[in-house]
Amino acid sequence: MSDYAPITAEIRTRIAAISGLTVIDDPGTLEEFGRDKTPGAFHLPELVVEATEVSAIRALLRLANDCRFPVIPRGLGTGLAGGAIPIHGGVVLSLAKMNRIIAIEPRNMIAVVEPGVRNLDLKNAVREHGLCYPPDPASNDTCSIGGNAATNAGGPACVKYGTTRDYILGLEAVLPSGELIEAGVRTRKGVVGYDMRGLLVGSEGTLGVITKLIVRLIPHPADVTTLVALFPKLSPAMEAITTILMRGYMPSTLEFMDSRCLELVGDILPFAGVKEAGAMLLIEADGAPETIRCEIEAIREICLEGGASDALVAPDAVWRAKMWEVRKAISLRIEENHPLDIQEDIVVPLGRIAEFVECLPAYEAALGVKIYAFGHAGDGNIHLSVTAESIDARPSAEAGVREIIQKVIAMGGTMSGEHGVGIAKQPFLSLELSPESMRLQRAIKLLFDPNLILNPGKIFA
Ligand SMILES: Cc1cc2nc3c(=O)[nH]c(=O)nc-3n(C[C@H](O)[C@H](O)[C@H](O)COP(=O)(O)OP(=O)(O)OC[C@H]3O[C@@H](n4cnc5c(N)ncnc54)[C@H](O)[C@@H]3O)c2cc1C
Repeated sequence: MSDYAPITAEIRTRIAAISGLTVIDDPGTLEEFGRDKTPGAFHLPELVVEATEVSAIRALLRLANDCRFPVIPRGLGTGLAGGAIPIHGGVVLSLAKMNRIIAIEPRNMIAVVEPGVRNLDLKNAVREHGLCYPPDPASNDTCSIGGNAATNAGGPACVKYGTTRDYILGLEAVLPSGELIEAGVRTRKGVVGYDMRGLLVGSEGTLGVITKLIVRLIPHPADVTTLVALFPKLSPAMEAITTILMRGYMPSTLEFMDSRCLELVGDILPFAGVKEAGAMLLIEADGAPETIRCEIEAIREICLEGGASDALVAPDAVWRAKMWEVRKAISLRIEENHPLDIQEDIVVPLGRIAEFVECLPAYEAALGVKIYAFGHAGDGNIHLSVTAESIDARPSAEAGVREIIQKVIAMGGTMSGEHGVGIAKQPFLSLELSPESMRLQRAIKLLFDPNLILNPGKIFA
């Protein structure tokens, strides 16, 4: 039972009176905002509000503290850990309409944006100035920069460019109390005080509502080239990755797909010969055309020396686009083909990816599930889909997920490289965090939010 106040007619009237908030409570919208992209996760909110002004968010949070109702910040609802689901009901606060690019300052190589800006819109806008905003979650055409900051989103380019946190220089946030703070800087460096920016980035909407971001930009790479390498087995593919990185090459993408994924998307690949393949690497290099031509050729040689049966350089941009379409189709096809799909995004040390993936058939046999593995091999970040033909298999699949996470942690890895804890990883948190760390983190939450009104029940139950 939740101890929160219900949204009564009186509270609704007080919320509706706040200038800069649009109140929505038709059943269709409430239903839509009761879920994100986390398979199987749902809870109906009592009210949805769209904010267009920071002052409105401040007023809403002050009211939430007075009346004790939950407020759940939401970007564009693509999260995969259930972070934006209102599990205690209350008010979902949508930032989608705060979507202005406030400034692009080419000479300072920064942009200032509101949280609801779509990742791809920011990328396209800065591109016109010869600049690049590197963080590239695969959902970049549907997710917001605010959501990316709140989850510290990653993507294929992390292997070279790092995660969202590396590009947030500063931010503005409304604290659960309604106070407004600025954290971080507008400059390339800054070390004054504790790293509040670093704490808010990745806090999954539990410590503050991010209302403005100052992001770091880099010069747009002049060109990009793509290589696809097919291997008869997964382990030589993973060995090749280590060799590529150890020899000092720095691809902008180092993705892999296992044989199960290849079976699923083989029909849309722009070349033949995948039936016999045990793994595929999708590798890109970006930079000056001559440099990357040499780099991709050297990487191609490493793949062939390492046992690749074929290594193809993309002949043109259309072929390259097709490869990314295929890469993005994997999750969708897995979801379409299996009634039960539990998505994990574990990370293991680089040198242990093959060893980890080779354990998966044993879990499959023991649990009666089918496991797909793909993702950011250059970061050791593996997306696992633990699937079954019936949702009745959920209890045993979940027990299997727990065992897999235990294995990952024992190997020196972590349970989530990108998606965060939200509600999805909560049952496993104590496997990774020590009691001391949990105690400190809970104390931080209470310091920011003593009445637990901001996104309650996330990260920590
Ligand atoms: C097909 C697909 C591919 C994906 N690929 C990737 C990937 O490659 N890498 C990756 O990291 N993720 C990926 N994701 C997951 C998801 O897109 C990211 O987590 C993304 O950052 C969420 O952004 P959003 O705007 O949709 O946030 P939401 O889902 O709306 O919210 C996510 C979390 O952030 C909080 N939040 C949102 N906005 C704010 C704000 N302004 N202030 C405070 N808290 C806020 C919410 O409370 C919630 O906890 C993928 C998802 C899909 C569906």
